[in-house]
Formats: sequence, C-alpha cells, structure tokens
Amino acid sequence: MALISLKEIHKTYYIGGKIPVHALQGISLDIEPGEFVAIMGHSGSGKSTLLAILGLLDKADSGEYKLVDNEIGQMSEKEYAGLRSRFFGFVFQTFNLLPKLNVTNNVMLPFIYSGEDSTEKRKEALEILKQIGLGERLHHRPNEISGGQQQRVALARALSNKPLVILADEPTGNLDSKSSHEIMEIFKRLNEAGNTIIMVTHEPDIAGWASRVLTLNDGQIVNDEKRERPKVAKAVKNKLDLSGTKRRFTFGGLKNYCYEAYLSIINNKLRSVLSILGVMVGVAAVVAMLALGTGAKRNMEDAFSSLGTNVLMVRTASRSGGISLGSDAAARFNFADYAALSGLESVEYVIPYVSGRAQAVFQNKNWNTSVTGTSADYALMKKSELEYGHFFTKAEDTTRVKVAVLGQTVATELFGDANPDGRFIKINRINFNVIGVLPEQGAMGWRNLDDQIFVPVKTAMDRLMGKDYIDYFEVQVDKLGDMDAVSENLVTELLRTHRLNESDRQSFEITNMAEIQAAASSMITTLAYLLGSVAAVSLLVGGIGIMNIMLVMVMERTHEIGLRKALGAQRGDILTQFLVESVLICSFGGIVGILLGIGIFWLLSTIAQWVIFISPSSIILAFTFSVVIGIVFGMWPAWRASKLLPIVALRYE
Ligand code: ADP
Ligand code: MG
Repeated sequence: MALISLKEIHKTYYIGGKIPVHALQGISLDIEPGEFVAIMGHSGSGKSTLLAILGLLDKADSGEYKLVDNEIGQMSEKEYAGLRSRFFGFVFQTFNLLPKLNVTNNVMLPFIYSGEDSTEKRKEALEILKQIGLGERLHHRPNEISGGQQQRVALARALSNKPLVILADEPTGNLDSKSSHEIMEIFKRLNEAGNTIIMVTHEPDIAGWASRVLTLNDGQIVNDEKRERPKVAKAVKNKLDLSGTKRRFTFGGLKNYCYEAYLSIINNKLRSVLSILGVMVGVAAVVAMLALGTGAKRNMEDAFSSLGTNVLMVRTASRSGGISLGSDAAARFNFADYAALSGLESVEYVIPYVSGRAQAVFQNKNWNTSVTGTSADYALMKKSELEYGHFFTKAEDTTRVKVAVLGQTVATELFGDANPDGRFIKINRINFNVIGVLPEQGAMGWRNLDDQIFVPVKTAMDRLMGKDYIDYFEVQVDKLGDMDAVSENLVTELLRTHRLNESDRQSFEITNMAEIQAAASSMITTLAYLLGSVAAVSLLVGGIGIMNIMLVMVMERTHEIGLRKALGAQRGDILTQFLVESVLICSFGGIVGILLGIGIFWLLSTIAQWVIFISPSSIILAFTFSVVIGIVFGMWPAWRASKLLPIVALRYE
C-alpha cells in the first residue's frame, strides 16, 4: 500500500490576486514506503509547490491526498500541524536553523511541538548529532559552524521525531560539492535504514542518488523513472493512528515559551528596552497620578475634619459684600442673638467668633498673629484634644479673664520646644496667661489654622479689640438632614430679634459647610479621575508602542513562524509564544514603572512637600493594567502571525 497517494492535484497562484499561474496541473502520484524520490524539473516547473503540498505546508486547490489510506483533505489546520509534527521531517535549501538557539536546542525544537520535550529525548537528539559527526558542536550557534554542518543539523532536526517521510527542497543548493556529497551520503544511509525520502533538486548528479526520479514540466509529471525497488521499508500499519496528533497544554511547554521569550528579549535589547520604556512611563504615571489624587483627597478630608461636621456659618450680609446696611445695628450680631440661636431646636452648639490681628510677645520673641475670640464650646465642636493644658471653660469665658490658648505655630514661634503652659505672654501689651496649646490643624485654603491665639470672646471684644459686636457664628446642627430646616429657623429667629421684615431675609447669610465639603470633595474626585485618565492615556500610548514593536517583530520573524509551523507548531503555540513575550515585556515594564512611580512620589513628598499617598490597590491596579496591555496589544500581532499558512510564512523574507 502506498505511503502517500495523490490524485489529480491542482494548484493555481494568482499574481497580484488576478493573473493565474498554474503551478500544478493534475498531479497523480503514489509513493511507496522506503522509496528515495528525486523530483526534477527546470525552475518554475512546480517542484517546490508539489513538495509543500506533500508535506502539508500548503493546501491544494483540488484533488485527493491520502496518507496511508487516510483521506486528509478535510482536516483542520490543527490536525495538519499535528500530522506535520508526527509524520514529516523537513530539510530546506537555506537550512532554516533558528540563529538564537544552539545546535542541540535546534534539534530539540520538534519535541516542543510534539509535546515530548524530555531529558530522554535530549539524549536521543545528542545521539543523532553524534552519528552525523556533530558531537563536538552541540553548544555552538548556527552562525558558528559551516554550511555543510548547518545542513547536517537541519537533517538531525528533521530526523528527531522519527518521521514517516523526510522532505527536502534543494538540500544541497547552498553547499559546495564536498558538503553536498556528505549530505547525500547521509540521505543514502537513512534510506538504506528504511526511511522514505522525497527530495527536490535540479542537479542530475544529485538526483542520481535517488531510487526514483520524477520530472516535472509546467506543473505536470512528464517522466517517472523507477531505478530500483526499495531494499528496506519501515513497516507502516494499514491505517495510521492519528490520535497522537492531539496535544495538551503542559507547564514544560510554558517553560519553553518563557525561555524563548527571554532569549528574544535579551537578543533584541534596544527593541525590548524601548517597549519596556513605553509601559514603564505609563505605569509610573498611573501610580504617581493616583497617589497625587488620593493625597489631595486625604489632605482635604483632614482639613475639613478640623472644621467639624454639620456646621452652618451665620454671617450678616454686609460682611460678605451683599446689600450693605452700613453701621445699622441690625446688621451686627450681639449676645442676644447668641442666646436666641443657642435655644433653637436641633442646634447642638453655637459658637461666636470675633477676630483681629495682634502682636504677641514672650520675653524677647515677637509674633504677629490673628486673635480669635470664641466660646468654650469651640474645643467641643472641633473635638480638639489639647496638646498641653486645657481650653477655657464657660466660667472663664463669661468673666473676661485674660487667658489664651495658642495654636501650634504661635506656640513654636514664641516658645520653641518649651512647654508654654502657665506662662504669661503679652497680646497687644496686655498680659495673658497661657492655659493650653491646640494640636496641629493644618491649612484651610490660604489660612493657616495653627497661626492663631484663642481667647474668650468677651475678653477679646472688651479688652483686646474694643468691639461691641460678634463677627459671625458657627452653628452645629444635630443631624445632617436637619440642616436646611435649621438654617431657615436661624434666619427667622434673627429677623425676630432684629425686628426686621420677612423681606429682609437676605440681610443674613447662612453657609452650609457640609455642602461646601461635598462640593470640594466631588471636585477632588473629579480631579483624581482627571489625573487618572491622563495616566491611562499615557498607558494606552505605551500599549500602542508595544503593539507597534510587536508588529514589526512579528513581521521580522515571519520566516521563523513558518519554520515553526513546518515543525508542527499549532496556531496556539505561535500565539502563546508572542503573548508570553509581550506579557513578559509589559510586566517587567510594569514593575520598573511602579518603582519609578514610587520614586516620583517620594521626590514630590520630600522635596515639594506635597501630600500624596500610595495605596497598594493603585500598585496592583497599575500592574494588572500593564499585563492587560501586554495581552491586548500583543494579541493582535500574535493572532495575525499565527494565522499564516506555513508555506506563505516560509517564503517571507
Ligand atoms: P520550482 O520549485 O519548480 O522552481 P515553484 O513550485 O516554486 O517552482 O513554482 C511554480 C510556479 O508557481 C512558478 O511559476 C512560480 O512563479 C509560481 N509561484 C510559486 N509560488 C507562488 C506564489 N506564492 N505566488 C504566485 N506564484 C507563485
Ligand atoms: Mg523551488
């Protein structure tokens, strides 16, 4: 029974998609086990096309192909790859060794695609290499050995999977006559050991080694000369067992891909560095921007927490540039207002404020600061735990005693590191007893909350500023939900105490601090999103860079892809290989980018004193992003590469 049987095989190419070239025109042919067939013919007669179809590197347009009685015309691409891997060994005119792999690894290549990569197989490969005289060259790269030696390595690679048929296209075309002779000797030996060989050549003396010579002309067989019967033929079962062509995913396989990706990365340093740079900048931007966004948010939350919650600010319109009521007493707050407002429903605290600037002096230290007169409730409302001493009490408040509570900045300016508690300072030349120091509160916009001295409100009005009115109130409301109702009641109450009409409502201005907080925090959130999207765009640009480089790389390696497919690589193998490579590049870029981002963060926080915050989630996010970029942007070029017909890829230069 025939090993390979072709019936009426036709193949037409279209030049430029239009002009037909009939490369094969009805080829019918039986090849017996153990034959050594030479295919001859002048250039362009269809020899290479026929060999590619025989070796399942290409598909015929029409006709029948039987491999040991199995009709394989209808098989899938994956099954073709499996058949190539199990039953065919290829030798090419240009050797087609992978330049980055050493001799041994080149010979091991088919095992990756048959899923048999093992130390046992490695021993077999070494044995074959020894037999063909390359035992000394195992660790050389292809460019370190001669052409004849390279072709012997290619032969060893073709033999490693113990194929049914060895296919060779002009195997001596690039060799001198001595090397050609050596190669033909090996072919002869292999044939005498029972191997079937089909070889394309246009040199009659090379064809002279064969036992059968086919001559092609214009895509047809014009002569078929059988010189001798095969002496030995390896036994071939009636029906081939094709089940072995299926292969599962293995971790050993993945290790191989990683190794090859690693080789490809370090062998193309500039290209790899550029891709890594692209992702790195993107990821660093993401980390730094997120840190900045979160930092801004925290900064603001801190500032607002010192304001207290559910706070309404009550001012007269004249103070805020509304309709000026001049010196009209109606426009000013007094202690009657204070008492009236405190009595309202749902009001927790009312805090009066008067403020002005003053010169504070301790011994030889002098500090110009702002003085705030307020009530004992201030500390309660701000939930301030004093650093030293205590806040003034209600009693101290009402009796106009000269006590002062210092903000952090004032305390440091006047006392340095010393404890100011119990000392006397002069405020506008009046002696005050320091009874406490407030904890640090930070900045609120342009105002430094720590650069203040607090004194009881009446002391401030009567003794320091000579004011007879209160500047404004802060009102803390029980519940957030009550704030609107309370602010209505506040105005109504003020209208009543000031004997004003309903139409004078605009004389008083109530600011809902909770609303301002919400507005500010939503602004910060928007800012964070903005920063984030800027970062995402830079990551995207990095990703497109990766895709660009992957595309070029895939094109550059199209020939290699063709070879791998000839050796049995399936689409998934090619896809995985390129994906592993781009994911490696991206995750490396990602890690470096995260480090860079943290570095930027560190610089900003130490040099520029920005408050920023790096969360682990932002790091995880950035890293995941970079891997996803690798997958997404590496996928398309890899997918394109994996789709190529092996013969098309092999022809690509
Ligand atoms: P040989 O190996 O005998 O020199 P080939 O089998 O390579 O010839 O080619 C047979 C014919 O098909 C030639 O005329 C060649 O120009 C044409 N041909 C081969 N490959 C292609 C292709 N990919 N596109 C168009 N024409 C092709
Ligand atoms: Mg050819």
